Amino acid sequence: MGIIVQKFGGTSVADPQKIHNVAKAVIREKENGNDVVVVVSAMGHTTDYLVKLANEVTCNPDSREMDMLLSTGEQVSIALLAMAIQANGYKAVSMNGQQVGIITECIHSKARIVDIKTEKLQKHLNAGKIIVVAGFQGVTPEGEITTLGRGGSDTSAVAIAAALNAQRCDIYTDVEGVYATDPRIVPNVKKASEISYEEMLELARVGANVLHPRSVETAKQFNVPLRVRSSFNLDNLGTLIIGVDNMEIYKPVAGVAADSSQVRILLSNLPDIPGTAAKLFGALAKNNISVDMIIQSLANNGTNSIAFTVASDDLNNTIETLNSVESSKSAEILIDKDIAKVSIVGAGMVDRPGIAADMFKSLAQKDINIKMISTSEIKISCLVDKNKASDAIKALCKEFGLESDEKAVVKGDLPNL
Ligand code: ASP
Ligand code: MG
Repeated sequence: MGIIVQKFGGTSVADPQKIHNVAKAVIREKENGNDVVVVVSAMGHTTDYLVKLANEVTCNPDSREMDMLLSTGEQVSIALLAMAIQANGYKAVSMNGQQVGIITECIHSKARIVDIKTEKLQKHLNAGKIIVVAGFQGVTPEGEITTLGRGGSDTSAVAIAAALNAQRCDIYTDVEGVYATDPRIVPNVKKASEISYEEMLELARVGANVLHPRSVETAKQFNVPLRVRSSFNLDNLGTLIIGVDNMEIYKPVAGVAADSSQVRILLSNLPDIPGTAAKLFGALAKNNISVDMIIQSLANNGTNSIAFTVASDDLNNTIETLNSVESSKSAEILIDKDIAKVSIVGAGMVDRPGIAADMFKSLAQKDINIKMISTSEIKISCLVDKNKASDAIKALCKEFGLESDEKAVVKGDLPNL
């Protein structure tokens, strides 16, 4: 038997009774003969509460002090969980990021893990102890406390699993696995029994909010088998996330997601000469603005139109940047805020013709207009009106066989789309 890393989110440890349920799930894994490391988030909405508190003290909290504050949330839950495990007669020890040696870069509020020391973890495991580790936090080589970004406990768990060469990392959550879309939109959506790292990453990029994306990147990089499973139904094995090479793929589409956090900018009347696009997008890049979808229309009378999308948060910066570029001075700028990008993702669409046509047909049947299209190897995205996003998702789930006979089981709060 090997090492299993388990991760429980905030809702799973929201009160003493729930902490006892988590202790049972941990002990069950230990009783199976495994060495167990458990990573937990802060209880319930603690982190939100701490953020609110800071904002009540000052509208511009210092990022170092913010990390100092937010890291306390996880310190509460690890101690309580260790006590609950001990109360059942098992040996347990809680450790914060500094005690383990979860070494990160010194970028407060979104630090990346650079190394995890395994000596102390290994010593406690050898002594037969269950280790309860604080997620979301680390320490710089200089001893400064850092956090990994909201939702970062998933990444802590996967990184620890990689460092310990664990057999598997189980992410326990409020849903019974990875659903092909948000069950609030399609209540009878299918659950995947397996999905690839690549598909999970694409789904996260286009708006699905199941796991912290960096956790999936880390799992892919170190080939850690990752399971998303229910903390309320321990017998359900949930969804296994593994490398695409280890999977049999039967379906072209694994998931459907929508992202309503972008705006579309249309520039018409641009000069149709070499270098126009280079100057525009060069200036945007220089100001750190990521551009997502881009289309350029056919030239007409020596002018061209280019449309592209950026994150809504970058809108003001984008307009300022465009106004500073010579070639866009003569252009007309139109902004469309009421858009959503609806995407289908699936490793099975590679080498399978007709998937894009099926997507366009099912949107047309619902009278949904497509404003822009972009594709990658395992993804097709269409920009549609924001108020049509849910209808589009429903239609696409039907089209690609992603509905089941049963209702998806969801407890607690689902993350926002
Ligand atoms: N407690 C942190 C948060 O709420 C980390 C996590 O839950 O993963 O973002
Ligand atoms: Mg989370």
